[in-house]
Amino acid sequence: MNISVVIPLLNEEESLPELFSWIEKVMTEHQFSYEVIAVDDGSKDDSWKVIQAQSKQNPNIKGIQFQRNYGKSAALQVGFEAAQGDVVITMDADLQDSPDEIPELYKMITVDGYHLVSGWKKKRYDPITKTVPTKLFNAATRYVSGINNLHDFNCGLKAYQKKVVKSIEVYGEMHRYIPVIAKWAGFDKITEKPVQHQERKYGKTKFGLERFVNGFLDLMSITFVGRYGKRPMHIFGTLGVLSFFFGILILIYLTITKTIFGVVGMTNRPIFYLGILTIIVGAQLFVAGFLGELIARNGADRNHYHISDKTNF
Ligand code: UDP
Ligand code: MG
Repeated sequence: MNISVVIPLLNEEESLPELFSWIEKVMTEHQFSYEVIAVDDGSKDDSWKVIQAQSKQNPNIKGIQFQRNYGKSAALQVGFEAAQGDVVITMDADLQDSPDEIPELYKMITVDGYHLVSGWKKKRYDPITKTVPTKLFNAATRYVSGINNLHDFNCGLKAYQKKVVKSIEVYGEMHRYIPVIAKWAGFDKITEKPVQHQERKYGKTKFGLERFVNGFLDLMSITFVGRYGKRPMHIFGTLGVLSFFFGILILIYLTITKTIFGVVGMTNRPIFYLGILTIIVGAQLFVAGFLGELIARNGADRNHYHISDKTNF
C-alpha cells in the first residue's frame, strides 16, 4: 500500500463527507493504493455515523472510535499504530489542510528520501490572536530543538516514512512536537513544504489559548527527556555538585576572614545564608539525580533502541 492518511477528529461531522470524497478523488487521479484511517476522538456529534456510512461505500476508508475524548495526540498515536502504507500522511479533518498536497508530499518522502515533511502554512487564515503566539512558539521550538529549517511545527498536515511513525510515541499534547520527537529518535532528514491553508469552513477550533502554556511546558519536558531521560544524573548531578561546592567555597571564605583576618560575626553576613542555601540545594539536586537514575533503571524502555537495519541475522 502506498499511502495511509491518518485523520484525528473531534466533532467534525459537516466536514467529513467533503474531505473523504476529496481524498478519494486525489488518490484515484494519481492511482495510489491507500487507506484513510479516521480516528474519532470521542465526538459528541454524528461524526462516527458519517464515518461508518462512508466506510460502507468505500472500503479504503477505515474508522476507529474512542470511547471518550483523549486528545489529538492519542488519536494520532492509534492511527500510527494501525497504518500500513509506505508513506503516512496526517491531516486535520476540518478542511483547513488540502488533500491536493498529498502527491507532492508522497514524492518528497519516496523520491527525495525525507524522513518527515511538515506542512508550512505560509499564508494562514487564522485570527491574529493565534498567529502571533504561534510565531513565538515556533521560534522557541526551533531554538531548543535545533531544527532550524521548520517554520511551522504544529501544522496538522505532515508526511512520514512508515518506520518513523512506528518508532515514535506521541501522547499527552505532544503532537505539536512530532518533528522534535522524530529527531530525537534519529530521524533527522526533516524538511517542510509550503501548503495551502484555508479558513475553517464548519465548526470551530478545538484548542484555546491554553495551547501555548501547555505547549511550552511540553517543549521543556520533551527536551529534557530526549537529552537526559536515559541519564538524569548527568544534569542533576552536575548542577548539584556545582551548587554544593559553590556553597563550600563561600563558607571557607567566611571561615578564613573570621579566623585569619578576625572579622567578627559570621552568621550576620548575608553571604553566609547563600552558602548554606546552595549547599542544601546542591545536595537535594544530587539526590534528585540518584532518584532519577533509579527510576530510569526501572523504566520498561531503558534498553529500547531504534534499530534501522541489520545484516546477516
Ligand atoms: N482534534 C482531535 N481531538 C481533540 C481536538 C482536536 O482529534 O481533542 C482534531 C480536530 O478535529 C481537527 C484537528 O484535531 O481535525 C485539529 O484541530 P483544530 O482544527 O480545532 O485545531 P486548529 O486548526 O485550531 O489548530
Ligand atoms: Mg483547524
